[in-house]
Amino acid sequence: MSEPAEQPESVKGWTRLTRRRDVLDDPYIHRYQRRHFFFFDILPAIGTVAAVALSWVWPPGPIEGSLLLGLWLVTGFGVTVGYHRLFTHRSFSAAPWVQALLAVSGSMAGQGSVISWVALHRRHHELSDQPGDPHSPNLHGQDPVGRLRGLLHAHLLWMRQHEYPNVVCYASDLLRDRSLLQVNGLYLWWVLLGLAIPALVGWWLHGHVAGLLLGFLWGGAVRMFVLGNIIWSINSFLHSFGPRLFATREHSRNSGWLALASFGESWHNNHHAFPTSASFGLDWYRLDPGYWLIWLLARLGLAWDVKVPSEEQIRLKRA
Ligand SMILES: [Zn+2]
Ligand SMILES: [Zn+2]
Repeated sequence: MSEPAEQPESVKGWTRLTRRRDVLDDPYIHRYQRRHFFFFDILPAIGTVAAVALSWVWPPGPIEGSLLLGLWLVTGFGVTVGYHRLFTHRSFSAAPWVQALLAVSGSMAGQGSVISWVALHRRHHELSDQPGDPHSPNLHGQDPVGRLRGLLHAHLLWMRQHEYPNVVCYASDLLRDRSLLQVNGLYLWWVLLGLAIPALVGWWLHGHVAGLLLGFLWGGAVRMFVLGNIIWSINSFLHSFGPRLFATREHSRNSGWLALASFGESWHNNHHAFPTSASFGLDWYRLDPGYWLIWLLARLGLAWDVKVPSEEQIRLKRA
């Protein structure tokens, strides 16, 4: 009889998973996380610097502005309405093709594949600002250095390498959705599509190859950099600074300043108080573009079972 061969790292990780069911700490996954961090979080920042530097030669015009705005809207709504409010919290139901479209447009943001994102975010809600929260700014000490380290960790650095929530525990509902699994498996292709579309449109509208580079930079890299930082600000600043409407157990905050730019995500304390609410603003005067889109989809008959708390529930929780 021969000795059993050394198990590959992925199998070792799976063995550890069976002992510790909620997260997977595996070198193979960490390697993927570091690559993802470099390509989709660091390179867009470098691309943004390049786009600004190139402005001396090729200043961005209406084409670049439209590509930046258009792709930012598509991917931003994809993340907040699709990834977050639909797939993570099931705050409404939608037609299958609407679900697929939201999953694809969210994937194009480059913030992770839909099932991984959902698992990470559900773990954030489960352990908010406690050990195990993937991106809390409040676990690095209360002195100024600790606060700064916490903000940097929550904003960006946690993505370099982190415990991977077991999707069987955290997103088993999504694993039963075959079309969503297909969208999930093609994640890298959707990110590339989100870069190819502005590059090709820029080339076509400008009529020369420089247009391809400008479209790629402004509609791709700059758009990813801007949207990424807005999303990460929710994790960092909105678990640190700002008013609270509800005395929730974690340190979530609200921000009116970021409401439009974050598609309503900045009503983060409201969201922690009512995670399954499709509306994060909870009232008409708190701007919430994500909820406006869900409202529109419902009016068109493309979304239903839209969950929002009653005035009584809100009043009771505020008390
Ligand atoms: Zn939070
Ligand atoms: Zn959430």
